[in-house]
Amino acid sequence: MIHYLFDIDGTLVRAGGAGARSLSAVMLARYGISDATRGLAAAGRTDPAIVHEMFERALGRPPATAELDGVIAAYLDELDRALGGADSTLRVLPGAHAALAWLAARPDVSLAVATGNVRAGARIKLERAGLAGHFDLDRTGGYGCDSAVRTELVARAVGRAGAGSDDTVVVVGDTVHDVAAAIAVGAVCVAVTTGGDRAEVLADAGADVVLDDLAALVPWHAARFAA
Ligand SMILES: [Mg+2]
Repeated sequence: MIHYLFDIDGTLVRAGGAGARSLSAVMLARYGISDATRGLAAAGRTDPAIVHEMFERALGRPPATAELDGVIAAYLDELDRALGGADSTLRVLPGAHAALAWLAARPDVSLAVATGNVRAGARIKLERAGLAGHFDLDRTGGYGCDSAVRTELVARAVGRAGAGSDDTVVVVGDTVHDVAAAIAVGAVCVAVTTGGDRAEVLADAGADVVLDDLAALVPWHAARFAA
């Protein structure tokens, strides 16, 4: 089996800043802090890690567990509203629909996500993008709610995929954080340049291949796994 683990933001979709705007709105409403996400490098990082950094910057302390949970719950409400409206900035990235459909039709391939989004946030983005049907989000994948550390949540996704020693795991992502996690779990790393990091940076980080977008994934898979 070939187990694919897809990052979401910058890889399958772009939310167009809706995540940062939603978090900012929550921090303003709950803590009176303006522009809480300004200058925050969110790409490739997990939701809990981003909230931690916001708290440290704005309040000089980490969030208590209840605060972290509360901020994330409120963020999910905001995000759902932002992505569900007529002015939603969510876009499916080129080739994503077709690549997932092509892979899903193959009997030797399994599909899951490995994302810094908490599971409910991943569901909102994928459902709004029309991509959720390709994934069993309840039983597979790795999420920001599993760990704030990307390597750990990717390892969790590998475990949930039930990957055996004869199997291949392919991590697909858009940042050096995806590449580092793929290397840490011994996965093949496909990087795409539709999101956070540039091609040279992704290649230097150790990506096995760097693609312009997911339209190039099908020919890459066909060549890489040719019988
Ligand atoms: Mg990403």
